[in-house]
Amino acid sequence: MANKCNTCGATVPDNATVCPYCGNAVTPTQPSNVIYTVEEDEPSTGLNILSFLVPVAGWIMYFVFRDETPIKAKACSKWAWIGVAVTIGLSILMGACTALLDY
Ligand SMILES: [Zn+2]
Repeated sequence: MANKCNTCGATVPDNATVCPYCGNAVTPTQPSNVIYTVEEDEPSTGLNILSFLVPVAGWIMYFVFRDETPIKAKACSKWAWIGVAVTIGLSILMGACTALLDY
């Protein structure tokens, strides 16, 4: 990979510290993987609450995030399931109460 002169834009050899065309100092370009910052991958409280309240949104986020931030994606999926479980649990409870009140 060759460096580029910041002053004149000419391509200069890797080991060159001074541009052979304009004579200015060449700062080596950073390899892209060094300046690449990994997106934070940890469960997000806001997204967890959203997944809990709206499980469908949680599953959509799971599919959106699973490649780049699998931990965040799994947390969304988990809270979506918890949301569904609580909703079903409450429905059964409400159903049971209604049934009991009928008698
Ligand atoms: Zn130059």
